[in-house]
This record gives sequence, structure tokens and C-alpha cells, in this order.
Amino acid sequence: MPGPDYILDIDGLTPVQAEPPTAGASGSGRPWIAVKWTCCSVYSRIYRHRDGDRYEGRCPKCMKQATARVGPGGTSRRFFEAG
Ligand SMILES: [Zn+2]
Repeated sequence: MPGPDYILDIDGLTPVQAEPPTAGASGSGRPWIAVKWTCCSVYSRIYRHRDGDRYEGRCPKCMKQATARVGPGGTSRRFFEAG
């Protein structure tokens, strides 16, 4: 049973105010957050790890990795910047 999408600790990610029109968990798919990779000026989704305690993803262009840990007291934003 999935817990709330709290994000406690963000390594290399910065929450931003804007919400992309496609953000959010869609139906039965894995939860994801939208990331703008400022290193390459591209957007992508990063998905929740199967352990459920973090989101992990890589920049689609330069493969830079970013991780967002999930926990109480974090932000519920779904749109971040990395890079
Ligand atoms: Zn990049």
C-alpha cells in the first residue's frame, strides 16, 4: 500500500513552484515526478524506486543522476529542477 508522496531529502534537486500540465501519478502506473535538467535544458520524469523510499532518475542527455528520498516532513511537490 503506497504511502504519501512525501519527499524528505533531495540530492541535487530543487523544488520549484511551477506545475507541468502532465505532472502527477497517472492511473495504475508507477508514481513519478517531473524534473527539469538544467544541465541540458530538458525535461523528463523520474520514477519511484520499487523499494518505495525514493525517486531515482538520470538526465536523458548527460546521464547525471538525481535522487529524491521519500519521508514524512518533506514536500509534496512534483516538479523539480536538477543539474
Ligand atoms: Zn544533463
